[in-house]
Amino acid sequence: MRDPTLWKHQTCLCTGGLLPILSPMGRQADPDWVLRRLRGVLGPVPEVASDPLETLVLTILSQNTTDVNRDRAYASLMAQFESFDAIADAEVDEIAAAISAAGLQRQKAASVRGVLGRIRAREGTLDLSFLGRMSTDKALEWLLASPGVGEKTASIVLLFSFGRPVFPVDTHIRRVLTRLGWITGSGSPYLEANELLPKDPVRMRDLHLLLIELGRRVCRARRAECGICPLRERCAYGGRVRTELS
Ligand code: SF4
Repeated sequence: MRDPTLWKHQTCLCTGGLLPILSPMGRQADPDWVLRRLRGVLGPVPEVASDPLETLVLTILSQNTTDVNRDRAYASLMAQFESFDAIADAEVDEIAAAISAAGLQRQKAASVRGVLGRIRAREGTLDLSFLGRMSTDKALEWLLASPGVGEKTASIVLLFSFGRPVFPVDTHIRRVLTRLGWITGSGSPYLEANELLPKDPVRMRDLHLLLIELGRRVCRARRAECGICPLRERCAYGGRVRTELS
């Protein structure tokens, strides 16, 4: 039975095509088949309202920690400061103290303060809507030039807050796509996945969320539960497990 709380803590983050695409490893990557399978087990992906600034800060806080700790850190940050402007004006140490639940607090505090300051220096206010008037490549470039903002953070903001077709790859997605045989995992998983997937933000978003859930529940880092996985019949790793067992 579907768990209705499944999506509770998701704030983040795919493409679509009609034909299967041959991945660099020779394995057929069929995003639509994967979507059908995962939606069948996990259910439809809910719409998530995603304010750009909130998404940006949350994603910086989410690096190397759990969703629970990210959310605790964000709640503490917003309880301590009245506004994003107040955060941009605060000392790094003050911000770090507020977000300690997320770990790496000094680094994350410097990133949050730095990116907020960069937005305000450009716009005169803390408003990211200018990204919506840029091409996807230019918006990506602008975000990636900000302190502490890498491909995952930039693509989450662009996909979830602006509906742009960029596919964010986190550790769960990297692991699942590598095991499926869609990417090699040796180069840039972000570039490999984005080359492979069709440019459809709705399917990208659903695939992103569903693959993360699969990675958390079934295709875990230490133990892949291939026997109960809905993707097993087309999975390179799952196929090897089946052959070894037979
Ligand atoms: S079949 Fe196994 S390795 Fe492949 S995606 Fe499923 S759990 Fe992961």
